[in-house]
Amino acid sequence: MHDDTRCLQTNDATAPLGFQSLSFPVFRGSTVVFPTVDAYQRRRETFYDGYSYGLYGTPTSRALEARIASLECGTYSHVVPSGLAAIVLTILAVAKAGDQVLLPDSVYDPVRTLSDNFLSFLGIEVGYYDPLIGGGIAALLNDRVRLVLVESPGSATMEIQDMAAIVKAARASGSLVAADNTWATPLRLKPLAMGIDFSICALSKYLSGHSDVLMGSVAVRDETLYRRLRDVSRYLGYGVSPEDCSLVMRGIETLPIRLDRAEANALAIAKWLQERPEVLSVLHPALPSHPGHELWQRDFLGSSGLFSVVLQSWTRPRVASAIESLEFFSIGASWGGTKSIVAVIDPQPARTTTRTDIQGPLIRFSIGLEHVDDLLADLEKSFRILAAEMVEPSMPTRREI
Ligand SMILES: *Cc1c(COP(=O)(O)O)cnc(C)c1O
Repeated sequence: MHDDTRCLQTNDATAPLGFQSLSFPVFRGSTVVFPTVDAYQRRRETFYDGYSYGLYGTPTSRALEARIASLECGTYSHVVPSGLAAIVLTILAVAKAGDQVLLPDSVYDPVRTLSDNFLSFLGIEVGYYDPLIGGGIAALLNDRVRLVLVESPGSATMEIQDMAAIVKAARASGSLVAADNTWATPLRLKPLAMGIDFSICALSKYLSGHSDVLMGSVAVRDETLYRRLRDVSRYLGYGVSPEDCSLVMRGIETLPIRLDRAEANALAIAKWLQERPEVLSVLHPALPSHPGHELWQRDFLGSSGLFSVVLQSWTRPRVASAIESLEFFSIGASWGGTKSIVAVIDPQPARTTTRTDIQGPLIRFSIGLEHVDDLLADLEKSFRILAAEMVEPSMPTRREI
């Protein structure tokens, strides 16, 4: 044999004898090879649960999907290149031109962009509803509403939705319900067990957990919905890298302890913030002062590390310098990693059908795994910058003089 040919010899896919590892192997591959012409020609039969082409699944992606399905109390799950891709897939899997999709007015903002600029172009009508609508959603449902999306808590503004009431109304009218389960993760909320049809998770957040992977998942119980998701995913050309799947599987191994730590840190910080004169309100559903606290207690198994804070309006001139002075909080989008992140969100969140009395600046914290005392000391220091702006309510502010 020539070296040229030797360089092209395929490796035996099975592990060397005696090597049994604790981690699931990364199986790379675009081409899947078949032992016979007949097996090759029948490869599409294995599309939903076997292997026909790397784009449609590898042992590594299937292993991740099985793990997510079991955490979601589902029968199936399908992984896609991002959390946003998972939402797009769910909508396109069920809605066609002339159908309607209902989104909460507090929806993850890129979904609003998708809806207003692209779903409308496809002839899919989008309606925005009050996230606090509960059973009142019945008035918006009709034969054309194919899907109701819930996202609880709402992005940035943290409204807790009455998902049970929405599911009941949707069932009665024959509409499907999808939940964006990114905040709670499958450890803190089980949407499929509540009768929700699709549970969507941005794996980029807590499941991968280290701010270095982009991936999303959709979990279901119904086989027809599962097949439809896989079909539409194939039409769209979605595929994921086995390395990324392996990183998410590694992340899932530490998810329970990471979430416990982020939850405890976030609660301690939320309580500290509540006592600060610079803070108008803390939007965290595990605080008894949150308007959705009782619903949250009814449905969720715990909280995570993401919450928002509304500051007093007089802090505005100093917000940027206070946030920039933080040592242990990086400024950025996305969340759910090991390190604390902070984002300053537009004064008035984007709304179409409801009004919010939130008059920013709204600060969103993703609390990480640092020691809580260090985070609190850091915040204490930066809040001194805000406090410097404080004036007696009866006195004119400096700018008015
Ligand atoms: C980040 C996020 C997504 C999208 O996830 P990507 O992987 O970044 O596309 C979806 N929903 C919510 C609630 C998110 O926070």
